[in-house]
Amino acid sequence: MAKKQFKAESRRLLDMMINSIYTHQEIFLRELISNASDAIDKLCFLSLTDDRVGMTREDFFIRLRADEENRTLTVSDNGIGMTAEELEKNLGVIAKSGTRAFRSEQDAGELEKADLDVIGQFGVGFYSAFMVASEVVVISRAYGSEDANRWESRGTDGYTVTPCRKETVGTDVILTLKPDTEEERYSDYLASWKLKELVKKYSDYVRWPIRMDVETTRKIDTGETDENGVPKMDWETVTEEQTVNSMIPLWQRSRREATDEECIAFYRESFHDSEDPVAVIRVNAEGAVSYRCLLFIPARAPYDFYTREYQPGLRLYSNGVMIMDKCPDLLPDCFRFVRGVVDSPDLSLNISREMLQHDRQLKLIANNLEKKIKAELAKVMENDREKYEKFFAAFGTQLKYGVVADYGMRRELLTDLLVYWSADREKLISLKEYAAVMPESQQYIYYAAADSVQRAARLPQTEQVRARGYDILCFDQDVDEFVAEILGTYEGKQLRNVVSQDLGLESDEEKAEAEKAAEANRALLDFVKDKVGDRVHSVRLSNKLKNHAVCLSSEGEITLEMEKYFHTIPGADTGAMKAVRVLELNAEHPAVRKLDRARTEDPERAAAMAMVLLYQAELAAGLLPEDPAAYGDLVCSLF
Ligand code: ADP
Repeated sequence: MAKKQFKAESRRLLDMMINSIYTHQEIFLRELISNASDAIDKLCFLSLTDDRVGMTREDFFIRLRADEENRTLTVSDNGIGMTAEELEKNLGVIAKSGTRAFRSEQDAGELEKADLDVIGQFGVGFYSAFMVASEVVVISRAYGSEDANRWESRGTDGYTVTPCRKETVGTDVILTLKPDTEEERYSDYLASWKLKELVKKYSDYVRWPIRMDVETTRKIDTGETDENGVPKMDWETVTEEQTVNSMIPLWQRSRREATDEECIAFYRESFHDSEDPVAVIRVNAEGAVSYRCLLFIPARAPYDFYTREYQPGLRLYSNGVMIMDKCPDLLPDCFRFVRGVVDSPDLSLNISREMLQHDRQLKLIANNLEKKIKAELAKVMENDREKYEKFFAAFGTQLKYGVVADYGMRRELLTDLLVYWSADREKLISLKEYAAVMPESQQYIYYAAADSVQRAARLPQTEQVRARGYDILCFDQDVDEFVAEILGTYEGKQLRNVVSQDLGLESDEEKAEAEKAAEANRALLDFVKDKVGDRVHSVRLSNKLKNHAVCLSSEGEITLEMEKYFHTIPGADTGAMKAVRVLELNAEHPAVRKLDRARTEDPERAAAMAMVLLYQAELAAGLLPEDPAAYGDLVCSLF
């Protein structure tokens, strides 16, 4: 029978596996056991609603069998099994869209960290078998099927699937171990002490019994007696099947019985992340509803986090039986990045998806978890800022969306978890930290928005605010200004965009003076407005500028940054979503004074100067001229 080839990505991955990307090749056993356990979970769950399965919880187990003569190690389970199609689909390809991330051309031998990360994310569980095996055979019979199939592969050269017989439903994974070398003793994986050690180390909490033959020596009575009449004893070695794992899931153990390290190892394995989480949250609640949970806050976003494909949710168990792999109703959207397990004996096992949503107990749990997650994040922010910034880089956007979503319903929960770039301190700070050092005189919390924080910090409109010693929060994401609108105020102070007309900087006297100056410059302002035409709504003297000649501001609800954002949304009514532009002039600036003089001396030149100033204001606001060449010509005409 012709060998089928692995899909390209799988092949590449396989090459990497075989070249031993994992420093600990021994994890192959953990991976196979974990697959076996998942398969049993599936059939066990089915058995709750389908009598035809004919099995109870006690019937399920995983078995390890070593055959020294044939140099094989077999991992068997009586779980759900796989059909021929599933063998193809699951083991013939490491499918899933994410493998696209793989296409960077690199030598399989020289692995970059990025590669390892990708592998971590997808979990190459099954393939790790090739780290220790020269050949892998999978014999599987799916639940509900009379036939079985044999999948067989020696690694990168491809695989075959052929029909075969198997008495019982489930899967046997048979590894033929590689020959021992000077560095590697693969035959260790045939020794019961070694297998036992590995199960203890990596798979102790697996909820199904992992059985294997273990040799034990015991005293036996020979039936004879010595000269003093004392029975003669002897030692004999017997092989008996034992369950080698404790089967108590991590989340059912106390803090003392399960260290953070163990929890983190569990996280990395179960949720396919090669990086440690930024926080581990354990909850053991008793009361109206009892539950235990073990939650993790990842340090980085999975490749598909900000796409529709990402499925949020926590793994839900009822007394150790998995009800659902990803129960989304336990997490508010703003915390959809949290992974973990919730186990409650109070939940009914055969509850349907639809009913779960309305489940009162589930709602109670969800409400509590929301508070716990928030508290944990606040703790990380307080105690380990570097870690928090890493977290925020990955999921800050999600928190911001969370503030804006549902008309700001969760704004209270999230406000203090936000951090923004401080123009003054040049680092990320919270609103609390901003407010803590505000001078008495400061009326507003200022922010500036642009497409990068550096640009925001350099907007001309920031000059007067900074000159008074007031800090500015720099926004660089579309969602930021909407967040500011939803927040409205923080500790009684209004958040205010530096492009707003009123920045609360001037005293009444200064305001009166400004009005006088505006009157004095009326002719100049009218002239400029006349020349620049409809590109701006009005032209004013500025109260924001110090060293710059002009800036472009907006009036009303929609700012220039929002307008830019609306223009990126396909099908948005861009006509309606337009910022009302205001060109602001710095009356003190030499360029503006020159323009004023030119108005009477050389009106044509003055008109060109006015246009150049408009272009400048637009550029500073991040708006590119529609006709850059025309702008260039205009500038040259002034030489
Ligand atoms: P992962 O476990 O991360 O999905 P694997 O490569 O380990 O990746 O396994 C791929 C798929 O093959 C699994 O998702 C599962 O559907 C199937 N599979 C693997 N081992 C078994 C098994 N022992 N019984 C049933 N299905 C299995």
